[in-house]
Amino acid sequence: MPQYVLPDLPYEYAALEPHISARIMELHHDKHHRTYVDGANKALEQLEEARSGGDFSTIAAIEKALAFNVSGHVLHSLFWNNMSPEGGGEPQGELADALKRDFGSFDKFKKQITQAAVTNMGSGWAALVWDSLSSRLLTAQIHDHQSETLVGSVPLMVIDAWEHAYYLQYQTEKAKFFDAIWNVWNWEDIAARFAEAQKATLVLGSPQGDGTPRRRAPKKSPQHPAGRA
Ligand code: MN
Repeated sequence: MPQYVLPDLPYEYAALEPHISARIMELHHDKHHRTYVDGANKALEQLEEARSGGDFSTIAAIEKALAFNVSGHVLHSLFWNNMSPEGGGEPQGELADALKRDFGSFDKFKKQITQAAVTNMGSGWAALVWDSLSSRLLTAQIHDHQSETLVGSVPLMVIDAWEHAYYLQYQTEKAKFFDAIWNVWNWEDIAARFAEAQKATLVLGSPQGDGTPRRRAPKKSPQHPAGRA
C-alpha cells in the first residue's frame, strides 16, 4: 500500500504565469514530483522485502533512495504551497520581525537565500529553515534533495534550483528565475509554517527540555513523554 501520496497543486498550472510557465508547472508537478513519490514508496517496499527475506545486503542503497525520494517529495510539496498567484511583496508580523532579527533586514535575507540558490553546484535547493536548536532562522543550501541539510531544522520556504524548475522557460538565465519567483511567494503560508515550527523540540540532553542536566535515576529510567524523544 502506498505510504506517500502526490498532493494536488493548490492552483492551476498557469496560475503563476508569467513568472513560471504552465508547461513547467505541469511537468514539474505531474512528472518530476510524482517520480519522487513513486521512488519513496518503492524504497518502502524494498525495505519490507529485505526484512521479510532476512537479507539486508542492499540496505545502504535502499536507505539512500529513501532519503533522496522522501526529501524530494517533502521539498516539492512545500514549494507548491510556498507560492501563490496572489503572492509577492514582503511578509508581515512575526515572520517579518524574525527575518529582520536573524538576517538584519528583509533585503539581506533575500540576497542570502538567492545567493544560496544561484551558487548551488549541480542540483539542489535553497531553503529558509527554523533551527530548533538555536531558535533562529537560517538558510540552507541543500544538494540534491537531502544533502547538507541541517538536522533538527524545519524547512519553511524552499527554492527549487534544479534545472527542471526553470530551464524550459529561462534556459541559461537562471538568475532571472530566482528573481521572478519573488513575485509569487505566499508569505501567509510561510508565516504559518514558521508559527508551527517554533513548537518543535529536539529534546537534546533533557527530556524536560529545560536545558538542565538530568540526574541519573537510581533504579528506573524516567519515561519519555509520549510522542517525544
Ligand atoms: Mn523540482
